[in-house]
Amino acid sequence: MTWRLFRFFLFQLAGAFLGRLLLPGGDSRQGIILGLVAASTLWVLIDLQRVGRLLLWLKRGETSTPAKVDGLWGEVADRVRRLVKAREVKAADSETRLQEFLAAIQASPNGVVLLDGQNRIEWCNETASEHFAFDPKRDVMQHLANLLRDPLFASYLAGDDYGREIVMMGPRSTASRPVRLAVHLHRYGEGRKLLLSRDVTALEQAEAMRRDFVANVSHEIRTPLTVLTGFVETLQTLPLNEEERGRYLGLMAQQAGRMQTLVNDLLTLSRLEGSPPPGGNEWVPVQPLMAACEQEGRALSALLTSQHGKKHLLQVFDAADYELAGSRSELLSAMSNLLNNAVRYTPAGGSIEVKWHVLPDGRAEFSVRDSGPGIAPEHISRLTERFYRVDRSRSRETGGTGLGLAIVKHVAQRHGAELHIESRPGHGSCFSIIFPAARVRRLAAR
Ligand code: ADP
Repeated sequence: MTWRLFRFFLFQLAGAFLGRLLLPGGDSRQGIILGLVAASTLWVLIDLQRVGRLLLWLKRGETSTPAKVDGLWGEVADRVRRLVKAREVKAADSETRLQEFLAAIQASPNGVVLLDGQNRIEWCNETASEHFAFDPKRDVMQHLANLLRDPLFASYLAGDDYGREIVMMGPRSTASRPVRLAVHLHRYGEGRKLLLSRDVTALEQAEAMRRDFVANVSHEIRTPLTVLTGFVETLQTLPLNEEERGRYLGLMAQQAGRMQTLVNDLLTLSRLEGSPPPGGNEWVPVQPLMAACEQEGRALSALLTSQHGKKHLLQVFDAADYELAGSRSELLSAMSNLLNNAVRYTPAGGSIEVKWHVLPDGRAEFSVRDSGPGIAPEHISRLTERFYRVDRSRSRETGGTGLGLAIVKHVAQRHGAELHIESRPGHGSCFSIIFPAARVRRLAAR
């Protein structure tokens, strides 16, 4: 500033000197005054020109390049440029932080919708647009109430009680694929709202399955228990002879056995669900497995056909010298379940074939084919559900628990295998487990 004042005075001095010099004949005071006026005017004009350039530079917004302005105005331009640059850096920093923050919300497994004071959508993440079928671009600033017309949600939004969440049907829900959403509104800022959503379909299904399971187990246990209690009362109250007592005790033992089988199957299922799948290092020879399975099947067949004139024609083919990687007890349980089912559902006189067959691609198939009643197509996909039975009375009569095929499916999955069911009413059934090639090898390869 001092330098500028000094230059101004120097300029004035030069003007006065020149004025005096250029007016030699006239009044020297008049020359000096004229020189001073001319110097001041020139100074102002130069300044105006600089201000003009500065204004032009500011108007163009070319603040990234330095302004071509000298002097004090050049310094003003420089300061403005530095200020703008600092602001730009700060803004870029804020923008990066905002983008990172939005990316984090995008990555959230929950839906997030930001609403303004009038319940208009300001922003939503992809999960929310998936949950509520929003178009993240088109639906911005749309009223939420116009897009989500579920009456339950409408009254929740209109109401004042956001302390709890509500569960509503998702807009993408269909009869075959229901979608249940838990939504929760939170207030924030000045009249703004945050809408959070979670897909609780699987959770609700699991909860419904758990409820059904408990109800089924209670029902399965209650039936034999009721029978047992009845027999106990009879034994306590009625004077029975030895033969009658023996008969009642036999029936009681049968009911107790039924409960025991059910509890054993439940324990097997819970072990299968709660333990890590068997590794691929324990190799089990297939032939002894099939022999143990055959022995059990023949004993059951003898028991079930003892009162009929005819027996089952049961053929178990040789498994040659193969072995399977997995758990012996689990594999035996799965194979026996399939053979026992064939024996239980095939009427006396029918035929049953048990085979081990290695496929050209190295996979191996264990199959049980029977000439029994067969199963209608609508039941096939549900057979592995717990307690699902096609023929309830036949299942009960033959000591079924409704858990056999659920156990087979679990064992197959734990061994990377697949359970295939082929059946037609009146044409028998074929249940097969196909093991992956990595779990099958010849004994000689050891
Ligand atoms: P269960 O103990 O009742 O046999 P499973 O889970 O083993 O239970 O089988 C489920 C249902 O599948 C059975 O109740 C039966 O109706 C049907 N099923 C299973 N195996 C056969 C078969 N070989 N032939 C006909 N129906 C079968």
